[in-house]
Amino acid sequence: DRLVQAAETGEDEVVDRAIRPKLLSDYTGQDHVREQMEIFIQAARNRRDALDHLLIFGPPGLGKTTLANIVANEMDVNIKTTSGPVLEKAGDLAALLTNLEEGDVLFIDEIHRMSPMVEEILYPAMEDYQLDIMIGEGPAARSIKLDLPPFTLIGATTRAGSLTSPLRDRFGIVQRLEFYQVKDLTRIVQRSASYLNLNMDEPGAVEVAKRSRGTPRIANRLLRRVRDYAEIKADGHISAEVAAKALDMLDVDNEGFDTMDRKLLHAIIDKFTGGPVGLDNLAAAIGEEKDTIEDVIEPFLIQQGFLQRTPRGRMATQRAFLHLGLNYNGD
Ligand code: ADP
Repeated sequence: DRLVQAAETGEDEVVDRAIRPKLLSDYTGQDHVREQMEIFIQAARNRRDALDHLLIFGPPGLGKTTLANIVANEMDVNIKTTSGPVLEKAGDLAALLTNLEEGDVLFIDEIHRMSPMVEEILYPAMEDYQLDIMIGEGPAARSIKLDLPPFTLIGATTRAGSLTSPLRDRFGIVQRLEFYQVKDLTRIVQRSASYLNLNMDEPGAVEVAKRSRGTPRIANRLLRRVRDYAEIKADGHISAEVAAKALDMLDVDNEGFDTMDRKLLHAIIDKFTGGPVGLDNLAAAIGEEKDTIEDVIEPFLIQQGFLQRTPRGRMATQRAFLHLGLNYNGD
């Protein structure tokens, strides 16, 4: 099980619901996004309009779903949540749209994985609040038009590049989430720790933050596992040393890389002499889906300067060699 999975399960899910921020002012980091959204939300509220459609993109676990829920909360409207792959037929989307009340938010996660037929329905809905749908089949089929209340579509995607341009063009607001800085993740960890009533000092929080791949979901998950370790091995107190030991035990190294990250870097270096190597070959070499490599593993390695994406394929950088304790012979 990787640390970066789509959702929490069991106890973690309950805890997660409690610590998920509900107000824009609790949305830590992403200052640029927060400042802009504050203005757009306030302006829409003053005009008593629905907020313009919003597209949020960024790697998993950075707070897309959280932001969508915050927007609905701050606008004081309901939110209906679905995802691209779940909407199989045009009727699935039509059913959701016709159930919206004025100003409501419809949140579509993984919007880049929506089928073209469903996407067609979305265009007039977004642009003119109109539903254009065929009912029945064969000679009895007819098209009906329905007026929808003004609503806000919020789409989330890990890849802006996979969206068709007609769809992308219909979003009035586009926000890109960046990996979090350690100081912001530290605040997130401290806030979660206080919800969980943990006994943790600041260096302990920094240690967890530093090893969280710039990702709040991972920070919160690591915190819970560090808590378990501290309860059994250190009377519950989480210092930097206890956190470091717990994270070592979890195979999370001092860069925040887990076994999968290291496996990928090792494959490029050991099997492909540092690259360049194409995505297909790399996926086969480590037994991982191409999508997972592109959406989940690579973005952080690239951002941290361990991996380069060149026209000829992926290459490990000098940092990657050094991190794995290997000699670098490149230029
Ligand atoms: P995504 O939808 O991008 O995969 P989520 O919105 O589900 O990510 O966020 C994962 C978890 O990280 C949330 O449960 C939330 O607790 C936490 N989180 C995300 N963004 C923030 C933030 N800006 N401040 C505090 N916690 C955050």
